[in-house]
Amino acid sequence: MREIFFRFAPIILLGIGAGIWLVGFIFYKFVGVNNFLVSCILGQLVLFFFCGIIIRKLYYQANLDSLTGVYNRRCLYSKTSAINKSRFPVSLMMIDIDNFKRINDTYGHLAGDEVLRQFGEILQNNTRQTDTVARLGGEEFVVIMPQTSCERGVKTAERIQKIVERKTFQFDSSHDSITISIGIVTSKLPIQLDSFLKYADKALYKAKEKKNAVVAYDNLEVLTA
Ligand code: GH3
Ligand code: MG
Ligand code: MG
Repeated sequence: MREIFFRFAPIILLGIGAGIWLVGFIFYKFVGVNNFLVSCILGQLVLFFFCGIIIRKLYYQANLDSLTGVYNRRCLYSKTSAINKSRFPVSLMMIDIDNFKRINDTYGHLAGDEVLRQFGEILQNNTRQTDTVARLGGEEFVVIMPQTSCERGVKTAERIQKIVERKTFQFDSSHDSITISIGIVTSKLPIQLDSFLKYADKALYKAKEKKNAVVAYDNLEVLTA
């Protein structure tokens, strides 16, 4: 949609609304009261529907990562209150693709983008509807899993790790495989997202020492004390 529409959206929509009623009034003058009401109501409904489509489009543009289709970093932060309203324990998994620079260097940046896109799809397809999958930036992703013990989180992480390891990522006429490292932390009490991410990052850092590994920190309360 043209930028000028978004810039003047309130005035334009007000103008369309007024226009609808003006047309209705003309109908009323020349045809009769029933047609006046029907045309105004229909016109308004069409306008509301149109606004709904735009709101939905803007919501997705603001909250989803344009490359992978998972939530973006901005949206992840807006979910903090949702995390603290969810049933505990909550586990957070931080994932980093191993040696991702090699994919870019060997096959080009577009191939790297395609790997990220397909990896995002794997995460979406292998987590629950109640989980939140987001791209933190670059080749780093986060999955927030409500009502998930550390043990269950590790099982999910290992399952995803195996799926990724076995997958052949296709791009243009080439293909290759990747591995991932995962850090998991579990909290049994409400927690700020920043602290959650900080400890997940520590676990990921440990996993990165080996690569293609999962490291979990259970009982975050002890860690943060
Ligand atoms: P490590 O195993 O230690 O994580 O190594 P790595 O190569 O995965 O990590 P490094 O931080 O050295 O490189 C990350 C690379 O990811 C470098 C950067 O160009 C690339 N990258 C970041 N964002 C994007 C993107 O949106 N698309 C593509 N194609 N590459 C990206
Ligand atoms: Mg990284
Ligand atoms: Mg990496």
